Amino acid sequence: MQLHQYDSSSDIFNEFRINCEKCRGLCCVALYFSKFDGFPSDKVSGTPCHNLDSDFCCSIHSELYSKQMKGCLAYDCFGAGQIVASLYEPGDWRSNSQIAQEIFEVFIKVFHLQQILWYLSEILTLMPAKTLWKKTSIYIDELHILIQSSPKDILNFDIEELRTKVNPLLKEAGELVKREVCHTNREIKKKDFIGHNFKKSKLDGYNFSSALLIAANLESCSLTGSNFIGADLRDTNIKNADLRESIFLTQGQINAAKGNKNTRIPKHLIRPLSWM
Ligand code: SF4
Ligand code: SF4
Repeated sequence: MQLHQYDSSSDIFNEFRINCEKCRGLCCVALYFSKFDGFPSDKVSGTPCHNLDSDFCCSIHSELYSKQMKGCLAYDCFGAGQIVASLYEPGDWRSNSQIAQEIFEVFIKVFHLQQILWYLSEILTLMPAKTLWKKTSIYIDELHILIQSSPKDILNFDIEELRTKVNPLLKEAGELVKREVCHTNREIKKKDFIGHNFKKSKLDGYNFSSALLIAANLESCSLTGSNFIGADLRDTNIKNADLRESIFLTQGQINAAKGNKNTRIPKHLIRPLSWM
């Protein structure tokens, strides 16, 4: 069953592809991260990672896989890095400490805006959610205007208010997809599936939104129309799984999961190089 439909004349997901060469290592500075989550050390927000070079490149980039830096390998900013870098002069957070804090705050805000935009953009590819396309396009246009405005406008923008408007739309899109895929109730109240073994199950239309699927086994599962919005897929085994028509998956989730050459993913996501 095909649920996604892509416009062959333009790639609406292009704006979300990370372009680290046009950024200045923003995620490696602005974010709080910990060794436990697969980053090189525990560090606070606003402090550069000790592996970040003066040219804003990662000094251990080619070794991230062998050193098992899972957090670094999985992280994806939805293109927020290059957007924020373009809002400031090439004089950056290193040479202009006065505005460094502002840059980091804008980056975190744009990350959340881009994440919402990503989900809204996916609605525009979901055929069962066609009735929502017009309303969704209005939000997308408004967000594009905001992101191209000024850092001050971005900082003053109320993201929580936006979420209260957008979340029902995402929920409705998920329901419309589920109705298309299955006619039985596939609502699951349980959200903790850490280490759970689903191997070879037919999980089409299941709602895994916000579920903890850390190290769960989804090997060889069928997941058409399954909703993964906000699910934690760190170390989730998706070898030989069919996720082509799963919905609300992000690049960060795919990067964090364990797939192989037989794992099938939606066309708008990029297959991690490490999947043999
Ligand atoms: S913030 Fe995004 S674009 Fe910048 S270095 Fe990190 S992943 Fe790359
Ligand atoms: S190890 Fe490299 S990619 Fe990871 S946070 Fe540090 S500089 Fe960034």
